[in-house]
Amino acid sequence: MKVKIKSPGTVANLVCGFDILGLALKAPYDIMEFEIIDQPGVVIENRDAFNLPTEPEKNVAGVVLLAAIEKAGFNKGIRVTIEKHIKPGSGLGSSAASAAGAAVGANILLGDIFSTDDLVQLAMIGEKLATGVKHADNITPCILGGITLIRSIHPLDIVPIASPDLFVTVVHPQIEVRTADARQILRKQVYLKDAIKQWGNIAGLVAGFMTNDRGLIGRSLEDVIIEPVRSILIPAFDEVKAKCKEAGALGGGISGSGPSIFMLSENEATAQMVGDIMKKVYDSIGIENYVYVTTIAKNGVERVSE
Ligand code: ADP
Repeated sequence: MKVKIKSPGTVANLVCGFDILGLALKAPYDIMEFEIIDQPGVVIENRDAFNLPTEPEKNVAGVVLLAAIEKAGFNKGIRVTIEKHIKPGSGLGSSAASAAGAAVGANILLGDIFSTDDLVQLAMIGEKLATGVKHADNITPCILGGITLIRSIHPLDIVPIASPDLFVTVVHPQIEVRTADARQILRKQVYLKDAIKQWGNIAGLVAGFMTNDRGLIGRSLEDVIIEPVRSILIPAFDEVKAKCKEAGALGGGISGSGPSIFMLSENEATAQMVGDIMKKVYDSIGIENYVYVTTIAKNGVERVSE
């Protein structure tokens, strides 16, 4: 039996919800194909130009598959073919797509034995390899689709958030921001006045999504703790953000740990215009860039026909 899946890119943090909020994107997505092999262990074949490691212990998908095999007490092995379209280090959940895709793919092969919490726990082993920290803000929307809140990691408490049909524009400027570096520069302590602003925005954003209050969503897409520090790593960040909002975007900010920037818009025409603006800014300063105009994906990792 062969199992082929699509694993979507994700936007983590959603500006004010550092480490707790995320959404799944309709595009880009990775394709992964799994099959059972007699030889125990994991065999990885890459079908892209990213040169990711094929040793299972060094590949995000590999460590997740090894953990799934062990958890299931399975006595054979799994071969996975990875066709990556989400560039590693983009801030669009490239490692999470491999981790979540591997957890879901293994689960289908092994006969649907894992719960959603199991899948998130397994996939977090992959995130730990990529970033050194177990975090689920990319993995959860990648598995469940839509917008998700991680209320707690220990114990795991996942809350799917209903949301309006919004358009998402993403620009990926071709500069490198390592997730580990983007975490290291953050301050370890925050002022109470900033914390109050931040939790007002998080609550406002969640309420805005759930009640389809676009004005509230826009006002709440503000981050007074992480963005002021991290945006320094992304050239033209302030200019991109200001121009996109002028053009009618509800708001947005850094996607995950960057360098990608995302913006939410109410309609496709605005989302396209926002994409043109992003492209123009980066073209004008000579930074190669990719723009995606897409929507929030209702589904997470899903099986597709071969
Ligand atoms: P992103 O935010 O886009 O997921 P990260 O920096 O978090 O990017 O993760 C990418 C890192 O994980 C890279 O250093 C990459 O080499 C490593 N890695 C190992 N295996 C994979 C894989 N299967 N998919 C993506 N990245 C992987």
